Amino acid sequence: MALPCIAEQAIEYRDAGQLKQVQALFDASGSLAILGGASNVILPARIDRPLVLVRSQGIEVAGQTDTHWLIDVAAGEGWHEWVKTSLARGWPGLENLALIPGTVGAAPVQNIGAYGVELKQRIDGVEIWDFQSKGRRWLSVADCEFGYRDSIFKSDAGKHWMVLTVRFALPKNWQPVLDYPDLWALTEREFGSVTPQEVFDQVVAVRQAKLPDPSVKPNVGSFFKNPVITDAQAQALHQAYPSLVRYPQPNGRVKLAAGWLIDQCGFKGKRLGPVAVHDRQALVWSMKAGQRLVMCSG
Ligand SMILES: Cc1cc2nc3c(=O)[nH]c(=O)nc-3n(C[C@H](O)[C@H](O)[C@H](O)COP(=O)(O)OP(=O)(O)OC[C@H]3O[C@@H](n4cnc5c(N)ncnc54)[C@H](O)[C@@H]3O)c2cc1C
Repeated sequence: MALPCIAEQAIEYRDAGQLKQVQALFDASGSLAILGGASNVILPARIDRPLVLVRSQGIEVAGQTDTHWLIDVAAGEGWHEWVKTSLARGWPGLENLALIPGTVGAAPVQNIGAYGVELKQRIDGVEIWDFQSKGRRWLSVADCEFGYRDSIFKSDAGKHWMVLTVRFALPKNWQPVLDYPDLWALTEREFGSVTPQEVFDQVVAVRQAKLPDPSVKPNVGSFFKNPVITDAQAQALHQAYPSLVRYPQPNGRVKLAAGWLIDQCGFKGKRLGPVAVHDRQALVWSMKAGQRLVMCSG
């Protein structure tokens, strides 16, 4: 949100050589604030716990299976830069997640997702530092308890962990995921001719057209999850509201578009004091701080 915020104490975590120092900060205070890009938080004016800014870098090939490339990426790497690098190095699979702000280490926290792909489908596991047991731990995808914008990292258990590395598992036999209407233009192409780079380019173009750039209009991304309801509920709603936007899920449930619902409530472009809903995308919120318009998105 680009709101002013002061941390009493802060450390930039760059490599494992600093783990002892970070652990000492935890031992002294009993808790830490951990931030990557700070794109998904609204910070208080003062952070009274020691703050760790995760800035570690590094991309390494960890190995391969018959079906996947296994790549270890340090938590402090920028997410979008990593997506670009993965494509440039011939490891497709992350193109639908292009242009999501933030860092690699924060990505498992809410199991980032966009345009039909979620992080959990593209990783093998996560290496963490556990401040309570004072050691490293490896979490498999099952251990991470991923859900829709959810994971164990948001639970009490995960509050004392810092993500160090994410191990990606990227498919050798890549297939495009083009289920979202914004990507349907690519389905008109000859079967098998769409490339990961084209999907990436399309996702970037759509996001740039729809969403405010946080560096121009500060915002915190989505402020509502898309509600997931039963098929019967969706059908009843559809009868009452024929233009209802719905996405059937593989498990038979139906996801509704929170942006559409907010729009129906007449909130698109609406201001409430210093806060406003984005005028192009109802999922997005904005806030006016002094003379400055700050955006937060749904
Ligand atoms: C314009 C905009 C569009 C967005 N679009 C999407 C989207 O399409 N899909 C989507 O899923 N999200 C989206 N988001 C949300 C945001 O991009 C993600 O939540 C992203 O993962 C945040 O990364 P960050 O590094 O900025 O995390 P931060 O804001 O720094 O932190 C977020 C949370 O993760 C924790 N955390 C961060 N790093 C670590 C670490 N190394 N170890 C442990 N905990 C950590 C923090 O403590 C905090 O609780 C969007 C946000 C914006 C502003």
